[in-house]
Amino acid sequence: MSEEKKPTIKKIKSTGFMRKIMADYFYEMDKAHKEGSPKIAWCTSVGPAELLLSLGFLVYYPENHGAMLGATRTAMDYIPVANAVGYSPDICSYLTSDVGSFLKKETPLSRAYEGIEGVPLPDVLVYNTNQCRDVQDWFNWYSRELNVPAIGITTYRNIGKITKDHLQSIAKQIEDLIPSLEEISGNTFDLDKFKHVLGLSYDCTELWKKVLETNMSVPAPISFFDETIHMAPAVVLRGTEIAIEYYKALLEELEEKVAAKDGAVEGEKFRLYWEGMPIWGKLRNLAEFFIELKTAVIASTYCNSWIFDSFDPEDPFMSMAKAYTEIFIVRDENFKEQYIETMVNQYSLNGLLFHDAKTCPANSNNRYGMPERLSEKLGIPTLTINGDLNDLRCYSEEQAKTNIEAFVEQLEA
Ligand code: SF4
Repeated sequence: MSEEKKPTIKKIKSTGFMRKIMADYFYEMDKAHKEGSPKIAWCTSVGPAELLLSLGFLVYYPENHGAMLGATRTAMDYIPVANAVGYSPDICSYLTSDVGSFLKKETPLSRAYEGIEGVPLPDVLVYNTNQCRDVQDWFNWYSRELNVPAIGITTYRNIGKITKDHLQSIAKQIEDLIPSLEEISGNTFDLDKFKHVLGLSYDCTELWKKVLETNMSVPAPISFFDETIHMAPAVVLRGTEIAIEYYKALLEELEEKVAAKDGAVEGEKFRLYWEGMPIWGKLRNLAEFFIELKTAVIASTYCNSWIFDSFDPEDPFMSMAKAYTEIFIVRDENFKEQYIETMVNQYSLNGLLFHDAKTCPANSNNRYGMPERLSEKLGIPTLTINGDLNDLRCYSEEQAKTNIEAFVEQLEA
């Protein structure tokens, strides 16, 4: 392949806006940590954040910190530290890198934001096991270490059809968190506030969905690799006005790109789906490599996992239970295959990439024959890339690039 011209990742103007609101978010959290008020809740990324916000907590997401450790390629310095206290190198590398960084008293937050010395410590840890068991083990570690309560929701897994019984059980578990959260926050639960926050989250999610759907256009205006960066406000700021403002700006920018046929990949020839976790430390390299191949990775399970379009402020507990249960990771293989098939059709995709992330079985859907079944059913090729979200020792760049190149040649043929 020609190496003459260095590929350029096109700029997204809204990035500056996003950096500003993320900085504001972390500084607000740091101030609360230093002053002891408002109270801080740590929450799993698809946990009941809206309930926490309505009770006046600032909400911090350790998985977001895990992603930063991956993106800054510092995770490998910390994973062995967690291994040394008994947490296996085979379990979630967000968990091990985050715990290791905590033990070493280091964080990318201090490098990114002057004056922030450490992560904001929690007054309570709130999990939802909808994504995996690791989040509960992760929060239990901090609970023991910091002597802070860890409470949460235990979700059904591998669900096909979601029934009323499933939802009633989850909704009841969400409601049952309230007395403890009231005691810790010192605030009384207010149903109207909860409905309001849920409404804000709904608006955020709808805009995020529209942002992702701009990629149904040909050429697609934003790559999966950029989407993983721009989804940060949907993860950590959903339930706030500023997240809505941000996605309005990003959507407007992408709609302009669609109108101008300004694709993320110049001369887009092929369109691919990314199934599984990002490889955080290699986002840029992969983005550039796909640009060279004139191949656009433009739809994914990962970025779609922050679309919660079942939120309904008129039925807050049940709708929240539904929104956080119907996400891809909670569902069975049949549902997942149907979902990907719909994506292939909606986004006019030519092939599917599966990332087998060594330490995240919950998000590695290649392991039970799905690529083969989908390839046969949809008549498009699939490729599995072996790697990891944070532990780059599990990823061979050379091997991955050779395989991707061969895959694109297959598409060309
Ligand atoms: S889903 Fe995967 S990456 Fe996320 S917390 Fe669980 S094991 Fe870690």
